Amino acid sequence: MSEDKRLTFFSKNKSECPVCQAPFFKEDLLTGRGRMIAGSLTRDLRRLYEPSKKFGEIFPLIYTVTVCPRCYYAAFPEDFFQPPLEAVSGLEEAAEKREKSIEPLFGPLDFKEPRTLKEGAASYFLALTCYDHFTKEQSPTVKQAVCALRSAWIFCDLHRRLPADNYDYLALNFYRKARFFYAQAVEKEQTGMEGIGFMKNLGPDLEKNYGYDGVLYLYGLFEYLHGSRKDRQKRAAALSRAKTTVAKIFGMGKASKNKPAVLLDRAKDLYTDIARELEKLGGGIDGTDEPSAE
Ligand SMILES: [Zn+2]
Repeated sequence: MSEDKRLTFFSKNKSECPVCQAPFFKEDLLTGRGRMIAGSLTRDLRRLYEPSKKFGEIFPLIYTVTVCPRCYYAAFPEDFFQPPLEAVSGLEEAAEKREKSIEPLFGPLDFKEPRTLKEGAASYFLALTCYDHFTKEQSPTVKQAVCALRSAWIFCDLHRRLPADNYDYLALNFYRKARFFYAQAVEKEQTGMEGIGFMKNLGPDLEKNYGYDGVLYLYGLFEYLHGSRKDRQKRAAALSRAKTTVAKIFGMGKASKNKPAVLLDRAKDLYTDIARELEKLGGGIDGTDEPSAE
């Protein structure tokens, strides 16, 4: 009877880590039969799920990244089994560093057991560091952006459950990392340094691929929400770039007909918010505005 309440299963086929050769079995989510009840879509394009009576809360995101339980090499499934040849020795050398880096954040973890939110957040954190070793042919920067954002989401979930454990601080930290990597990914793509085309599903969540427009939108959103405000002029310059980029999503006339309405609406709202802040900043820079009391 309890079989029916299972959320995940371990694959019967053994996998082998291409870095340390450890054998392991991958855990996957069972879908269907009322396990997933879609809820609202957040401003940063995360699909929330309603808890079901039978299965409780489900976090589909925590099963996506493949992680070697021995050396903590981690990557998306399409990359995991074929890391670039030149990356393998670096990934091997960094194994101890990876293990040490997750201890202070999560305590002891075990990737041979069914995953919890902690293994989920750690899996994206580990993948983010492992993609440093990948070459531009695999679009590592945009993958790091998605990993940072999903880590931030899962840290928010952890904070809801364990409000005294400072996971809100980590969530903010990873939102800032997401801002950094999305900005880098857009810049590298626009200057031809590194394309984003080798990430199969740009998400950012699992249920829908918002593609390149989604990447542009998230870059603008995180610049607006998490960009540095220390220097007024730099802030204004960063926001102007973000505004021009966001405008590209809905500014192409007929082409926008085929784009998801939800993304177009959110891009327009974001454009308005950025324009409003720029207006305020602009006043200050010209010296026509009184210094704010904040
Ligand atoms: Zn390994």
